Amino acid sequence: MSTINLNEASVEIRERRLGSVTGFCGSAKELVDCSCGGLKDMKRGFSQCLGCNSGQAFCQLSMIRDAAVVNHAPVGCAGDFFGFNFTYRVEQTHRGLPEAYGRYFCTCIEEHDTIFGAVQKLENTVRRAYERVHPKAIFVTTSCASGIIGEDIESVLDALSEELGVPVVSAPCEGFRSRVWTTGFDAAYHAILRKIVKPPRKKTNKVNIVNFWGSHIFDELLGALGYEAQYIVPLSTIEELEHISEAAATIHVCPSLSTYIAAGLEQLYGVPELKVPPAYGLRGTDRWVRGLGKLLDREKEVEEYIKSEHSRVEPVIEEYRKKFDGLTAFVTAGAAHGQAIVALLSELGLKVKTAAIYHHDPIYDNGDPKSDLLAQDVELYGDVPTYHVCNKQSFELVNQLRRAKPDLMVARHGGMTIWGAKLGIPTMLVGDEQFGFGYQGIINYARRIEDTLDAIEFVTNLSKHSSNPYTDWWLKQEPGHFMEGGRKNA
Ligand code: SF4
Repeated sequence: MSTINLNEASVEIRERRLGSVTGFCGSAKELVDCSCGGLKDMKRGFSQCLGCNSGQAFCQLSMIRDAAVVNHAPVGCAGDFFGFNFTYRVEQTHRGLPEAYGRYFCTCIEEHDTIFGAVQKLENTVRRAYERVHPKAIFVTTSCASGIIGEDIESVLDALSEELGVPVVSAPCEGFRSRVWTTGFDAAYHAILRKIVKPPRKKTNKVNIVNFWGSHIFDELLGALGYEAQYIVPLSTIEELEHISEAAATIHVCPSLSTYIAAGLEQLYGVPELKVPPAYGLRGTDRWVRGLGKLLDREKEVEEYIKSEHSRVEPVIEEYRKKFDGLTAFVTAGAAHGQAIVALLSELGLKVKTAAIYHHDPIYDNGDPKSDLLAQDVELYGDVPTYHVCNKQSFELVNQLRRAKPDLMVARHGGMTIWGAKLGIPTMLVGDEQFGFGYQGIINYARRIEDTLDAIEFVTNLSKHSSNPYTDWWLKQEPGHFMEGGRKNA
């Protein structure tokens, strides 16, 4: 059954749409087995802090180069504007684009607005945004406060679209809507699919690559196959987004990010989605490249590419395998990217014994169980004995990390790396998903691991001067102590 319903202003949350969970204690294999049916979320009796849907929607919408974003929220919800503006400006420089500030506005809902209404503030802010920056489209992200007020924002925005002559589009993403913060990505894509993307005029040779703001590693391969890489959504324009329905295919770098838009483009406009799990690790990359060749009708060409890449990277990888043999690793990251890191480390001979992953999607919007990267990891590299879905709860992560005592910690998000360093564990942060993608990605990772392991003296010294905020009582409990309920239905 299709999960895409553009008649509704709000995207259905991942818990209901995909059966996603934010709590699980077990092994990777058990999680894969449960994902085939009967996976049940383990609720927490205690939580430290959570990611917010609103931030993830903003993450995708805030770097569309000629759009503006209005956050219909108290000003505190806009506290992440500066970070996205920083990234936006850095990535413009990387791409040689003209310098521009982010076009971000907030309605600054106050206490009395929650009683008397905030629609007038919304209208005023949208008009002010239009007058100031003349965007090609305005996205309105919502918040817990605007959600609680419960006003009919949709009809207000429709009227403003008429008045201003540009799409003014809601992206409902109240923090309390979903415990799975990646629902915010879906909210952004739902808004783009509903009000920006147009039916195709003709088919092109472009391939949509749904990503954050990663490096442009697909240009060469796709160019050699006669196709053109089109990186979306950050750093694209409204005009480019209007025509993503004309692309020859859609590729994921991280299905946790882009499951919704890829399925939407396929189901609504026939743009085929590459459903093979993304290319992490040697064998995973072989599988992905063959899948791409089949999708783009270039099966013969990709076999030559695989052969030449193997002869280039295998001897290098073999040397690193010898070097890393016997080392253990701890992984913490979002769902699909965490699974990608497990594949990369396993390929390089490290043993991933523990993973603290933020959530888990048992299936993606395409409904194809073969797209599951975790199942591929277990099949190709074996089980991860402790695979904990931790919803980014630092207190659980620290407890687990102390038990695991790994030789290396790899994290995808900045706030988590400090815990490894404080415990004297060499810790590596990789923010660019594309960094580890494909054949070259394995070597990129190996070099970064080598550098990180060299920093052992630094983290050892750091740990001697670090304090731990958690009590001895907590550190003696099981990491899943505050989780309630079983991991499977009885
Ligand atoms: S939308 Fe809600 S959860 Fe998100 S930042 Fe605002 S108040 Fe916090």
